[in-house]
Amino acid sequence: MPDPISFDVIVVGGGHAGCEAATAAARVGAKTALITHRADTIGEMSCNPAIGGLGKGHLVREIDALDGVMARAADVSGIQFRLLNRSKGPAVWGPRAQIDRGLYRKAMGEIISAYPNLTVIEDSVDDLVTDGAAAVAGVFGGSGQVYRAGAVVITTGTFLRGVIHRGQERIPAGRHGEAPANALGERLSAMELPLGRLKTGTPARLDGGTVDWDACEKQPADAEPVPFSFLTDEIEVPQISCGITFTTPETHKIIADNLGQSAVYSGAIAGMGPRYCPSIEDKVERFADRQRHQIFLEPEGLDDPTVYPNGISTSLPTDVQDAFLRTVPGLERAKVLQYGYAIEYDYVDPRALRPTLELKAMSGLFLAGQINGTTGYEEAGAQGLVAGLNAARLAGAQEGAVFDRAEGYIGVLIDDLVTKGVTEPYRMFTSRAEYRLMLRADNADQRLTPRGVELGLVGAHRSELFHVKHSRLESARERLSKAKMAPKVAASHGWAVNQDGRVRSAFDYLAYPGLRFKDIQAAWPELSDISADDAGQLEIEAQYAGYIERQKADVAAMRADESLKLPRALDYGQIGGLSNEVRSKLEAARPETIGQAGRIEGVTPGALAALLGYVRKNGQTRKASTG
Ligand code: FAD
Repeated sequence: MPDPISFDVIVVGGGHAGCEAATAAARVGAKTALITHRADTIGEMSCNPAIGGLGKGHLVREIDALDGVMARAADVSGIQFRLLNRSKGPAVWGPRAQIDRGLYRKAMGEIISAYPNLTVIEDSVDDLVTDGAAAVAGVFGGSGQVYRAGAVVITTGTFLRGVIHRGQERIPAGRHGEAPANALGERLSAMELPLGRLKTGTPARLDGGTVDWDACEKQPADAEPVPFSFLTDEIEVPQISCGITFTTPETHKIIADNLGQSAVYSGAIAGMGPRYCPSIEDKVERFADRQRHQIFLEPEGLDDPTVYPNGISTSLPTDVQDAFLRTVPGLERAKVLQYGYAIEYDYVDPRALRPTLELKAMSGLFLAGQINGTTGYEEAGAQGLVAGLNAARLAGAQEGAVFDRAEGYIGVLIDDLVTKGVTEPYRMFTSRAEYRLMLRADNADQRLTPRGVELGLVGAHRSELFHVKHSRLESARERLSKAKMAPKVAASHGWAVNQDGRVRSAFDYLAYPGLRFKDIQAAWPELSDISADDAGQLEIEAQYAGYIERQKADVAAMRADESLKLPRALDYGQIGGLSNEVRSKLEAARPETIGQAGRIEGVTPGALAALLGYVRKNGQTRKASTG
């Protein structure tokens, strides 16, 4: 057997969680290995070739603010950029881009292969090295090679004991054409981790040359594409339109008549699927009164004829897929390049994890991505970044680092997972964030880059650009606050202002409905040197300033609760005044803080008071530390 190879951190899996985990660990200085089945599938998009969207776009911006890699790869491969929810408030705008699958894989492959401190190894990880202790010390490769490390991050996506279902067909696979990770699945199962089964699905892929595009509506890209990354000035990739078509009553009849043949409806799949991304079988069954369902026809690349029909994922047999596709306007003669399928796989109940994404049961072993019960590239990437950062910190004997719910959607995502667990694949929505007026996609860098700099996560280039932008914005804010005007004068500009005699600043006036930055600049020509980008940011800030001021008290209360750490070995049986139900929930979750305990479903304010009283009386609250 060859001698073991040693690293500080090993990341298993080159998907979206793995790429962010490996680069984050490498950025903070850990000698990192990314071990994955095939280097040429690094950055592969298993399903829909799109990045961002509602809530997900926020995650991409936050990953970028912490110098992660997803946004930059998306900016050089996005072929249809759209800012979703534009008609609503900026807090819920969702940057999204249709991606050229090949360009993304190429961009991510290039970033990873050139990344300092990072070695890519093609191997299949089959087992963990534990040296007999409850701490991980490395992994065993299927090649026979042993790799040792102070911390390991597993990001194996849908591969753990994955099985593809299509009608009666059952194919062991991690995704189409790739073998599952059964040995590693068995190993995690033998560790008695709380494993469950989930499922997700994908539609057939079509040959775009056989689609009748004239029969479909057109959905163009935004005229001025807004990049994901704070480092990208301009999108240079040509932008395309997607098509829109609809299912018909005939489509629904074929599906309804064949429901028994769908792997999901025949009872062959036990795992729950994503409620917010239902299969076409689910839609037909659950919304039987609907006459039609929308299908977005999304080209998978500029030079790729493949079209992804978004909205009709299915596990029906191939002949039924052919039959129902022919009833959709524009797809009557469409040729199927690859049939749709559902995939069922193991996931680990994320309540088994600390907020650093380290397993409670095994020191040094971190999990990130779909393995934790989430769905989506962005959710995977965000977890990967946190797990990679913390794996490197642990390997370097530093305390863990977490982001709280008021810092970013990353904090919301991880807190939701480790506190509440999942009953179906978890995806991000803006509605999950209670402080969403603060957590906007536009200000992700202002919120997170300074923290990233402090953690050593942000490189010199971004750090320098950030500081330039930050001081420019600070100076513009100061100038806006110093520019004053009495309401009488404001009225002479035609502004509808209460004539209460109160002199207001230009920043105050900017918050008035209907007043835009150009109106302010017309009244104060000396502010006309403020750039359009900065003006846009300041407009949003002024609009939300009042609400955010009021939200600060809630954030302070949340942080006070978060600073009250609970002992890891707390004996909940000793605490009087807890119902059996609450006690067993607390025992199962073992919350790290009073704040986290309060967010566990069913933990009442009374139970929380009893818990706090007990730990205070026994002097058991720990100092703020998450490691
Ligand atoms: P992945 O991107 O799956 O990456 C896992 C990586 O680990 C791969 O590179 C694999 O080769 C490697 N690997 C696995 N096991 C081992 C091992 N033992 N040794 C070495 N390497 C290993 N998301 C949505 O948002 N919406 C959808 O509708 C949707 N539908 C989907 C449908 C299907 C059929 C699939 C497969 C996925 C779908 N997804 C969807 C999910 C999306 O693809 C994932 O959420 C995302 O890719 C998860 O990222 P990840 O990094 O966790 O895992």
